[in-house]
Amino acid sequence: MIRGRIIKVLSGFYTVQTEEGALVCKARGRFRLDGTSPLVGDLVLCSTEEDGQGRIDSIEPRRNRFVRPAVANIDTLIFVASGVNPVTDPFLIDRVSVIAAEAGCELLLCINKADLDPADTLYELYSKAGFRVLRTSALTGEGLSELREEIDGRLCAFTGNSGVGKSSLLNRLIPEADAKTAEVSEKLGRGKHTTRHVELFSLGEGTCIADTPGFASFDLDMMPVIAKDALAEDFIEFRPFLGRCSFRDCAHLAEPGCAVTQAVEAGKISASRYHSYTRLYEICDRPLYETRR
Ligand code: GDP
Ligand code: ZN
Repeated sequence: MIRGRIIKVLSGFYTVQTEEGALVCKARGRFRLDGTSPLVGDLVLCSTEEDGQGRIDSIEPRRNRFVRPAVANIDTLIFVASGVNPVTDPFLIDRVSVIAAEAGCELLLCINKADLDPADTLYELYSKAGFRVLRTSALTGEGLSELREEIDGRLCAFTGNSGVGKSSLLNRLIPEADAKTAEVSEKLGRGKHTTRHVELFSLGEGTCIADTPGFASFDLDMMPVIAKDALAEDFIEFRPFLGRCSFRDCAHLAEPGCAVTQAVEAGKISASRYHSYTRLYEICDRPLYETRR
């Protein structure tokens, strides 16, 4: 038995990165029967058959799993934002921060295009809320070694609005990624970012980055299934105040004696983050079709 991580799936063949190199495997038939087909990001045990064909025998329990893109075990979602061209709406960051919290992964905020704009407002807002925040420039290379350090040993995926520099950062970190995505789009013939194709690029020492199709992927698939009464927990800086409201079932909206709104008034929670909470509260709990764009 060899342990490894699935880094690529194409036409029913799984490429598993093991300590001894990459092994192309087929999945055992029973995965299809019980509905747990292997995903990119899965840690698996595999073996080699007599004819040299690799075979996936079992999948280790997952930390999390995303539907679009289909990828498992993300440790860190890197939200790439930008203060200019385009300006990132904090609400986008906040909804992804909720999705990350629900999935049990960390959100790292990467403020790109720092050569054009340091985005002080975003930087302060999210540092104060308790997130790790970095400034980078895919153009000048500023902050890229810090980014590498921050993601060391983790499986990461970039997300963020279009045009902020996700592909540029990926290509700076992994020069061969560019060639590979171009090659794939040529084969599949439907543009650079196809939602079906996910591939992990290795930076060595267990660090992997998923080449994913961007923002929408980590967005609406999960938002509607978040329970209203779980939402406040997903705002990391609200946590110290939870359980201190006058009403045990406080929704932190307009209730008297609410520790969360008092913290907002005292400047301990930012008005911007709190406003996102109230907007997201409306979206939670609803059936999928109502909130899907
Ligand atoms: P994506 O849609 O998030 O993948 O964004 P791209 O990587 O395609 O970048 C969008 C545009 O912004 C391209 O024209 C890039 O050359 C440019 N760009 C990306 N990163 C930076 C940066 O750090 N600084 C500057 N000045 N331009 C950048
Ligand atoms: Zn409250």
